[in-house]
Amino acid sequence: MTGIDELRSLESRYTMPTYLRAGVEFVRGEGARLWDSEGKEYLDFFAGLSVHNAGHCHPRIVAAIAEQATAFNGSSNLYLSEPALRLAERLSGSSLGGKVFLCNSGAEASECAIKLARKHARTRGVESPEIVSLDGGFHGRTLGALAATPKLADEGRFGPLPRGFVAVPRDDPGALRAAIGPQTAAVMIEPIQGEAGIFPISDGVLVAAREACDGTGALLILDEVQAGMGRTGTLWAHEQLPVSPDLMTAAKALGGGLPVGAVVTTLELGETFEPGDHGTTFGGGPVAASAALAALDVIDDETLLANVREQGEALMAGLAAIEGVAEVRGRGLMVGLTLADGLDPPSIRDRCLDARLVLNCPGPRALRLLPPLVVSAGEVEEGLSRLGASIST
Ligand code: PLP
Repeated sequence: MTGIDELRSLESRYTMPTYLRAGVEFVRGEGARLWDSEGKEYLDFFAGLSVHNAGHCHPRIVAAIAEQATAFNGSSNLYLSEPALRLAERLSGSSLGGKVFLCNSGAEASECAIKLARKHARTRGVESPEIVSLDGGFHGRTLGALAATPKLADEGRFGPLPRGFVAVPRDDPGALRAAIGPQTAAVMIEPIQGEAGIFPISDGVLVAAREACDGTGALLILDEVQAGMGRTGTLWAHEQLPVSPDLMTAAKALGGGLPVGAVVTTLELGETFEPGDHGTTFGGGPVAASAALAALDVIDDETLLANVREQGEALMAGLAAIEGVAEVRGRGLMVGLTLADGLDPPSIRDRCLDARLVLNCPGPRALRLLPPLVVSAGEVEEGLSRLGASIST
């Protein structure tokens, strides 16, 4: 097996320096456990950034991938394919009831939603359609998605960025209402902001968005890329919200570990795109679609979703009781915390890794915990004790 030093030298010689990687290589996973190349076992409270919601290497997903990969690996979107069509049926039936576009990532789902909303606005006669998004929201790193991600939409480094994007404060229903007018194509909201450090959007802001969209004809897009697929204790995060969107985006855990993204519309919006308006080579490929169907089989299960709610409550209560934790936020197993002044989240994340607990630090002050949804009560306790010890050292 190649050692860590040699991997580091391959990394620095051959990969663009876009990531700050820890010096660990994980080579095996099962449920909420990971093993590194030296055979050390870890508790995973990150799930590959909310990708492995069903737990690592869930046998049902592994079997679905192996079976489909052995039989047939796809022929393009110019022919019918049952796994993709069954996946579209399943996504529509479990959420907004309209039509589905399958793609390969969250950013691609954002692009599709933005493009669809712009076309919808153009059809309504809007000449310069605008997308309104919230400060702290994250929708991806391709140019359209980036323009809707205020913190990273840095004109100075990446400009010229696409025009027609407006950002408003996260917690200000009045400012949001004021920003939505006849020119608005869509309001794009991450119902619980993940990359910002887990900030649930208030009901007041969500209702203001829905009402203003209804008043002007704009669309409400909910980005469920991180919050969807059971993460918050229901299959889709919006099931627990006071509003329903016109478009929903999903990705990450949707593919059960393979790259799958999707946009789902309401029934009314299903015909907005026409042939030629949009496409992607790999979207809905049979292996990825079979993995997604198996992931949905595992996650859309009341016993598993009840576990998410139960372990989420235990995790949040346990975190609140740890000395040095100033604030705990989240829903289900999408949990963020702010540490007391004087504690440095990146150092604590590193100490946790040394203590064989994998978690993440999305910003200078926050830690983020996204365990696989199959995490047990014992594993939650174990994680809390490793985190508590890492904070107090
Ligand atoms: N939307 C949200 C809410 C996300 O958290 C992410 C990724 O973290 C994305 C979109 C972009 O997804 P991807 O990295 O698959 O392009």
